[in-house]
Amino acid sequence: MKVLVTGGAGYIGSHTALELLHAGHEVVVIDNLCNSSLESLKRVELLTNKTITFYQVDIRDGDEISNVLAQHPDINATIHFAALKAVGESTQIPLKYYQNNVYGTLTLLEALQKAKITNFVFSSSATVYGEEAPVPYVETLKTGIPSSAYGKSKLMIEQILSDLVKSDPSFKVACLRYFNPIGAHESGMIGEDPNGIPNNLMPFVAQVAVGKRDKLSIFGNDYPTNDGTCERDYLHVVDLAHGHVKALEWLEKQSNGICEAFNLGTGNPLSVLEIVNEFSKVTNVNIPYEYAPQREGDLPAFWANADKAKVELNWTADKSLEDMMKDTWHWQSSNPQGYGK
Ligand code: NAD
Ligand code: UDP
Repeated sequence: MKVLVTGGAGYIGSHTALELLHAGHEVVVIDNLCNSSLESLKRVELLTNKTITFYQVDIRDGDEISNVLAQHPDINATIHFAALKAVGESTQIPLKYYQNNVYGTLTLLEALQKAKITNFVFSSSATVYGEEAPVPYVETLKTGIPSSAYGKSKLMIEQILSDLVKSDPSFKVACLRYFNPIGAHESGMIGEDPNGIPNNLMPFVAQVAVGKRDKLSIFGNDYPTNDGTCERDYLHVVDLAHGHVKALEWLEKQSNGICEAFNLGTGNPLSVLEIVNEFSKVTNVNIPYEYAPQREGDLPAFWANADKAKVELNWTADKSLEDMMKDTWHWQSSNPQGYGK
């Protein structure tokens, strides 16, 4: 297959590009590099000894997307990662998030529809279950109301995709609802390289470990969980990347007019303290931390029921927690400044 990957220079996109190349597919990336560096794709090329075709294109520019598609009439499918993803920031500048994520996706879909490229994998999120859903989250639950503009943009896109498939059954869509991807490729050559102060737990821990930050603030130790800190379903980014390859293969086998959601997680909740302790144990690096007030919008605990992905996609998250910690540290300690972007 030849696969269009939007946002392919980013954290999950670059790991997925690598897995696609390993599986024998060709990769065309479009990315405006607003939160990434071309260096990630150069390293994927080094690791695989294969070439990626790259275009610096914004998904809000339909003409530019159509130009790319015209040059590659043999593209069979799209994996759509491109989005802004900082939950807190999305609450401060919601219009920018809706413009980038929702308008950008509409523009992309219009260009794909014109070009008749109708197999589509979407990067969704567990946040679409909203704040009231019982755990573990299962795909048969109705979606809820995400608290942030970021989360709402993901839910809106899922709804747009569902309407699109009903109106144009040549489309086949898989919405992959990620839980908490962490870790890096085992080579230590590609990984997560956030701009500024990391919002997410794992890159923050890794930057404390490498001496870039003094200490971790753990947001809340008074949640109704075993140790009082929040619980999440952390999965290795390479497993997640593999899930995209599986989703593409699954789409190929489906009849037209399908739009299905899949949880991608391990099914095991882990607390913030468990993550910090495991990181220290695996790396022998102490992580100083302090307790801080709860972060607005954080839910006490959520994790996946990942049975549907196992049965239908033949996918499970196989890597261990130790792998997640070891690979995070390998990446961060080999690249203390990330890609140096
Ligand atoms: P990332 O920021 O590393 O990657 C996103 C990529 O999209 C970046 O390379 C960025 O430059 C690009 N991009 C953003 N807006 C663009 C635009 N208008 N035009 C072209 N390119 C654009 O983020 P990531 O962690 O790799 O996330 C990938 C996808 O997965 C996103 O859609 C995100 O919302 C979703 N997701 C991520 C997580 C997570 O924890 N990382 C969880 C759930 C869902
Ligand atoms: N967290 C924390 N300190 C940080 C970053 C995150 O204690 O500096 C906690 C956060 O409160 C949540 C968990 O770590 O309980 C995972 O947060 P992250 O932002 O990585 O993912 P989320 O599940 O919020 O998308």
